[in-house]
Amino acid sequence: MDSKSSPVEMFFFPFVGGGHQLPLIDMARMFAAHGANSTIITTPKHALSFQNSILRDQQSGRTISIHTLQLPEGVDIADTNMSAQIMTDTSILQEPLRNLLLQARPDCIIHDFAHRWAADAIDSLGIGIPRIIFSGSGCFAHCVQQNMFKFKPYEKVDSDYEPFVVPDLPDRIELTRSQLPMFVINGGGPKRKNLFNDGNFGSVVNSFYELESAYVEYMKELGDKAWLVGPVSLCNRDVADKAERGQKGSIDEQSILNWLNSKEPHSVLYISFGSAARLPPEQLLEIAYGLEASGHTFIWVVGKSFKSEGENEENWLPSGFEERIEESKKGIIIRGWAPQLLILEHGAVGGFLTHCGWNSTLEGVSAGVPMITWPLSAEQFSNEKLIVNLLKIGVKVGSMQWGQSWGTTPGEAVGREKVEAAVRRLMDEGDEAAEMRRKAKELAEKAKQAVEHGGSSYKNAEALIQELKTRRRPETSTQ
Ligand code: UDP
Repeated sequence: MDSKSSPVEMFFFPFVGGGHQLPLIDMARMFAAHGANSTIITTPKHALSFQNSILRDQQSGRTISIHTLQLPEGVDIADTNMSAQIMTDTSILQEPLRNLLLQARPDCIIHDFAHRWAADAIDSLGIGIPRIIFSGSGCFAHCVQQNMFKFKPYEKVDSDYEPFVVPDLPDRIELTRSQLPMFVINGGGPKRKNLFNDGNFGSVVNSFYELESAYVEYMKELGDKAWLVGPVSLCNRDVADKAERGQKGSIDEQSILNWLNSKEPHSVLYISFGSAARLPPEQLLEIAYGLEASGHTFIWVVGKSFKSEGENEENWLPSGFEERIEESKKGIIIRGWAPQLLILEHGAVGGFLTHCGWNSTLEGVSAGVPMITWPLSAEQFSNEKLIVNLLKIGVKVGSMQWGQSWGTTPGEAVGREKVEAAVRRLMDEGDEAAEMRRKAKELAEKAKQAVEHGGSSYKNAEALIQELKTRRRPETSTQ
């Protein structure tokens, strides 16, 4: 077969668990739908959480497979309960990955930046496999971060709560020092400062042009080559894929759908802080009081809270709260994992209280649901600016403190009055909320068009495949 016409061999090396793993698996599935031969590289334990959807893809004729890296007996990375943190050391995978690449020589490898050793390991093989980076965030947040490193505007303010403008961006974006991670304030930053431009072949971004076009263009000016191919979660089309994405939900999907079916359109607020964040009990208590005072119906996904020894885990709930919401059918609390895509796409859901993780942000956008923004860490304070100030599809709860979710720097809890006010502002259906809902629906249409045949993300995926084919030398043909 001609080397330019045989399918491209694309390897995907997602991070192990957490919010980073999901989009790269979706992306591998999406590229397989474009005709690429996609291989997902992971560990035996982590493969368990997504092997069913890959099997379904194979049964429908897609060329996608999982390659598990062989590790010493009994060894794996962290727990597989989606809790591997971004700083988890995965370098035990280095040798098996190198061996695989030497043998398979794919047309490219797309790897999560959180495998911090991977870029050097792949480059040092010296066999010219194009390395494409996946950072997990969007273009806007990337540009904010780059200019933060470049201009250090946070050094020019006197207090942690005095706003500063991030210089030289297409829009006026203000942040405060309290909303930045300590490593930025202390002048640190990643070893490879600009992840998108560190000698790699380019980057793939889970986003779409119409969402943040000014920042896509700005990135081009910075010299960062990126293919925006999202929202990749839209590749989950069947109920089974949505219900099992990440892991099987802690609540049966049919019972949650039945509950939602009994609710009025746009009447339910969905609340989730992502795959990893754990809020302190004092904060959960304020949320519970605020929700109850708002009178609105909700689905609230809570993980296990931080608790002192001997303390009852449920202590954070106001007395009788759960009985009251069950009796009045006002709310559901999910302890553990929720089938987020199924819930967000249900017509009864009218708002999403989110920590502004990039996946959740895009999933809210794709579902056309306006948001209440409650950033906690990572680049979430930047994502809040995009949602509230630029896209105008959300209201802020008023979170000011980076790192609240890790239990190490609890900061001041956001009070119940603020929670109630934000919920009412979005869910009482005033003119402002109606306008946000209209805009959110419009964006959702654009998101869907972007991944459909001829859409911007569809074309970008095709362009990357073509570029990989074009750079093949005739002698690298495997046929
Ligand atoms: N997620 C889910 N169910 C949950 C919690 C999270 O399906 O109960 C998914 C969610 O749909 C999203 C991802 O986990 O795709 C979380 O990623 P995000 O970037 O929003 O936040 P992170 O977990 O990285 O903080």
